[in-house]
Amino acid sequence: MKIRVKYALFIILIVFCCMSSVACANNKNRQNEKYENQTIDPSQDTREAKKLAESLSKKGITDKRVLAAIGNIPRHEFIDESLREYAYLDRPLPIEKGQTISQPYTVAYQSELLQLKPGEKVLEIGTGSGYQAAVLCEMGADVYSIERYQDLYLQAKETLNKLGYHPNLFFGDGYEGLPDSAPFDKILITAAPEKIPEKLKQQLKIGGWMVVPVGGRQGQKMTVIKRISKDKFRETVHGDFIFVPMLEGTEE
Ligand code: SAH
Repeated sequence: MKIRVKYALFIILIVFCCMSSVACANNKNRQNEKYENQTIDPSQDTREAKKLAESLSKKGITDKRVLAAIGNIPRHEFIDESLREYAYLDRPLPIEKGQTISQPYTVAYQSELLQLKPGEKVLEIGTGSGYQAAVLCEMGADVYSIERYQDLYLQAKETLNKLGYHPNLFFGDGYEGLPDSAPFDKILITAAPEKIPEKLKQQLKIGGWMVVPVGGRQGQKMTVIKRISKDKFRETVHGDFIFVPMLEGTEE
């Protein structure tokens, strides 16, 4: 009797194993079908962002937190769908209002010069697409960002919030800064003023610094202005870049 029960259990086990292996195979086939029918597989964006970060490291960016941030951010979310194929190339791309999302190398270069520590309060001038603000958020900073075009401000807010970033965004003229939220540990300007904006210098903490491309439309020098004391500032000049101009006032 006992032997018959064991035999029956053995048969049931064999039948169950056969059925489940057929089910697994079917499931796998269905998964393969799913990927074959997709133009982009779900991890492609992540892989592309990581590759972009690797290429920036080869170009000389060494700050690991900057590279990690760029490797984590889906840059294609910050540009028009029609430009998707260029999203992870090291190129600036057009956004609305004749503005640009900066070249990833430039974003990385400026972010590296900031030497951000987690929790530091940083003011960005020129939110644009919101991509640079996302990099600063990824690096753990307390981010404030101002944009002079209302449409860009609204669009950037939507994109950033959708991706789970919640910096403090403002529609306004960056030349005024944010006196009510000052002082800032760091200030980053992502449009080019002809001269260093005086009001922004006064919104720096002592010991803090500003990264700003200074110059006219033909090109600018990346400049770092460190506030040594209440009235004393020290300036260092870095590479050549081309940014859109920093304009006064606001527009719809
Ligand atoms: N950081 C942006 C780069 C955008 S290009 C990004 O990651 O996409 C520079 C931006 O600066 C533009 O959106 C432009 O409208 C904005 N800008 C220019 N002058 C400004 C000003 N005075 N105040 C605020 N934003 C300004």
